[in-house]
Amino acid sequence: MMGPAHSLSGAAAWLGVGAAAAATGYAMPWPVLVVGALITAGAALAPDLDHKSATISRAFGPVSKALCGIVDDLSHAVYKATRGPGDPRRNGGHRTLTHTWLWAVLIGAGASAAAVFGGRWAVLTILFVHLVLAVEGLLWRAARVSSDVLVWLLGATSAWILAGVLDKPGNGSDWLFTGPGQEYLWLGLPIILGALVHDIGDALTVSGCPILWPIPLGRKRWAPLGPPKAMRFRAGSWVELKILMPAFMVLGGVGAAGALNFI
Ligand SMILES: [Zn+2]
Repeated sequence: MMGPAHSLSGAAAWLGVGAAAAATGYAMPWPVLVVGALITAGAALAPDLDHKSATISRAFGPVSKALCGIVDDLSHAVYKATRGPGDPRRNGGHRTLTHTWLWAVLIGAGASAAAVFGGRWAVLTILFVHLVLAVEGLLWRAARVSSDVLVWLLGATSAWILAGVLDKPGNGSDWLFTGPGQEYLWLGLPIILGALVHDIGDALTVSGCPILWPIPLGRKRWAPLGPPKAMRFRAGSWVELKILMPAFMVLGGVGAAGALNFI
C-alpha cells in the first residue's frame, strides 16, 4: 500500500484498540487516543525505511537518507544470513527485516525503554519523529508541496504541545502502566501496532510480506504471507483508494466513538 493508506489504517487500528480498551476497563484519556492514533499513523510508514524512495526515507533529509542506506544493507545481510533453502536470492533488503513481527516488537520495546529511561527529550523525540511521519502520511501530496522545514516545525511544535497535554494529571502519560516511573511506557504500543498494520497492508498486495520471520514455514524462512492471489491488489490501485481508504476512515470513526464511550 502507499503512504496514505498505511497511515489511515494505522490510525484506525489505534482507535479500534481504544474502543477495546474502553470496553475492558482501561479507557484511554482523550490525549492518549489522539496522540496514539497520530503515532500509529506515523509508525505505519516506518518499515519502508528499507526503500530509498519511501516517504520515511526522505522525510528527514540527509539523516533519514543515510539511515535508509544502513537499514537496507542490514536487511539484505540478515536476509542472506538466514535464508532458508526455499527462499529466493535477492539483491536488496526491501520488504525483509523491517517487515517482520520481530522488528515491530524490537522497535516498540526500544521506544518504550527510551521513553522511560531517556526522560523528557526522548519522549519529545519519539513524538516529533512520528508526528512528522503522520503529517507526511495523512496529508501526503499536500505535505510535499510545502517545504520539509515547515513540516519539521509543525512536528516539533505539536510534539511540545502534546507532551505538555499528556503530562497533566489524568491526561494519560501513565495510561495502562500506572506504577511510579512508568510514565510513557505505553508509547511503544502504537509503534508496534503501526508496524504490524503496515506489514498486514503489504501482505494484501501482490508481493506479500514475510511477517513471520524468523519462524520457518516449510523450506522458507522468508515466506511472503498474504491472502490467495485473487484477493490481492497492486499498491496504489483503485481497491486501495476507493474501497480500503474510505473503509479505514469509517472504522476509525466507529473506533473513536467506542473509545470515547459515545456508543
Ligand atoms: Zn512496506
